[in-house]
Amino acid sequence: MADIIQLLPDHVANQIAAGEVVQRPASVVKELLENAIDADASIIKLIIKDAGKTLVQVIDNGKGMSTTDARLSFERHATSKIRTADDLFHLNTKGFRGEALASIAAIAHVELKTKQEQDEVGNSIVIEGSTIVSQEVVVTPKGTSISVKNLFYNIPARRNFLKSNTVELRHVFDEFHRVALAHPSISFALYNNGSESFNLPISNYRQRIVNIFGNKTNEKLVPVEEETEVLNISGFVGKPEYAKKTRGEQYFFVNDRFIKSPYLNHAICSAFEGLLKSGNHPSYFLNLTVDPQTIDINIHPTKTEIKFDDEHTLYALLRSAVKHSLGQFNIAPVLDFERDANLDTPYNFGNKESNTPVIEVDRSYNPFKENNYTAVKQTPTFKKQSTSNWDSLYVGLESKGTKTDHDFSEVHFESEETTISAFGDDNKIEQTKTTYQLHNKYIVSTIKSGMLVIDQHRAHQRILYEDFLKNLTIKEGVSQQLLFPLELHFSSQEIQIINQLKEDLEHTGFVFSNVTNETIEITGVPVTVPESEVSIILEQLISDVENEVPDTHFSATDLLAKSMSKSLAIKAGQSLQKDEQEHLVNKLFACKEPNVSPTNRTTFITMSVDELDKKFI
Ligand code: ADP
Ligand code: MG
Repeated sequence: MADIIQLLPDHVANQIAAGEVVQRPASVVKELLENAIDADASIIKLIIKDAGKTLVQVIDNGKGMSTTDARLSFERHATSKIRTADDLFHLNTKGFRGEALASIAAIAHVELKTKQEQDEVGNSIVIEGSTIVSQEVVVTPKGTSISVKNLFYNIPARRNFLKSNTVELRHVFDEFHRVALAHPSISFALYNNGSESFNLPISNYRQRIVNIFGNKTNEKLVPVEEETEVLNISGFVGKPEYAKKTRGEQYFFVNDRFIKSPYLNHAICSAFEGLLKSGNHPSYFLNLTVDPQTIDINIHPTKTEIKFDDEHTLYALLRSAVKHSLGQFNIAPVLDFERDANLDTPYNFGNKESNTPVIEVDRSYNPFKENNYTAVKQTPTFKKQSTSNWDSLYVGLESKGTKTDHDFSEVHFESEETTISAFGDDNKIEQTKTTYQLHNKYIVSTIKSGMLVIDQHRAHQRILYEDFLKNLTIKEGVSQQLLFPLELHFSSQEIQIINQLKEDLEHTGFVFSNVTNETIEITGVPVTVPESEVSIILEQLISDVENEVPDTHFSATDLLAKSMSKSLAIKAGQSLQKDEQEHLVNKLFACKEPNVSPTNRTTFITMSVDELDKKFI
């Protein structure tokens, strides 16, 4: 039989490729705007007619193209943006596949005018259905103008498939907004059928959002800012009361590229949990900056989907950052208290030393004064490096939201005289450091505003939990060598669970010398873990995993930290020395979330003198 396989002619191949890249006028808008950004333009104009069906034109003041490049730009796989496949992991440009112009030219009438700064004259190319109609020298300003006319003129089926102008125009606006939002440092304008629809000057991000969505938007925005080792998050979320029934304003960018990610959208929405009426969707404008090496953009021709190396971590970070902002901006005054410590990321522990926490202390902060917020703003905050962070109790009180009319200055404690110097080098807060242990269960202490009662078990759990999370994250758990290896027996199913968690356990300080089907041999344990406790801890851990079945890596580490802190925390009934009590209090208030145990139970309560007074009436 004769051979039947043939290579497709270029124009056919381009048409097929166009099917992937260009679905509608809005796709052309996206590709052309992105090319203009990649060409370092600072002013970009978009002109459309009939919702882009008749014309999509983008004019930029970018670097333009040489004569040869202008011609080559319409070839398939012709790109100036990458050279090797390796470059895919260092991408700083929007484009890299070199197929947009080739695809567009296969299904429309295209006219290109371009000039580089140093050239006297520029080039004009007219191309129709992949065929060059003309190429000539023209007088044109620096930059590039590309007109795409009569989209799908040669593929009637696809042209008929286009929706009404209203629908297509909405898609065009959507694309325009996405690109413009990602680049507030570029000026954009959009002209629709001869009239100006948007004129967006160079501005900051907030202003850009307001310029697109209207002045009213300004009051709805809550800033989100989070810098971690893994990624930076910046942008805004809409206040919950402005949430809408439709998923309108949800913009998520990764390295300045608009991305669709139902998974991360879920992370953001879940941070709003309890704050929205059911069926309402929050608005958000969030930018993630990550190392390009940790993402893969090349999984879809339109590049709106992306693969992250570690999606679970991003989920947790994003959720926690949004939650934190909502709490901080008092959108959810109780959030601080209810904050889900499980997902409160340990990642920004970074290189911090756990025993020298930096606590922001506002010495004039008075939790019992009505106008806390102004008081906080007007007074300088003090940074104090010490393990005696009792002053941070005020911070704790703040987040409890305890407010009464009581004026703090009227309370005369014996320690009052030391208030001024209490934060100096001499650190005279000894007098307030009195602690008592109540029923071997609670630690009671005086604080400036009244008294403090700490649940010793829960407090210790919180301290250990944060320590373990930190070790799991920075992978530097300190290990103590056992004199003799410890051999423990488990069922093969239990061994499986240990194996799943082995790496994380090692990060906390465990050293496994041998793991067989039924035994594990341990030669090192975390310094905080007594040898006698090892088997109890592992058993507890296995049962916790069996009961909670974590399905993500993140929740597995979290579960491990929770389980170990639960096993190791001092129990009720254990008597503590004075210095142990003090140490516990100090460590607790050096925690990120001293208010609650890892399982969200209250760790301490306070009672103001005022409240006590009332009891004696
Ligand atoms: P890609 O953007 O993936 O490289 P395109 O087909 O979109 O592929 O563009 C091909 C090439 O044409 C680009 O790599 C770039 O060098 C050049 N080019 C396209 N648009 C412009 C523009 N507006 N200004 C300058 N150069 C451009
Ligand atoms: Mg491109």
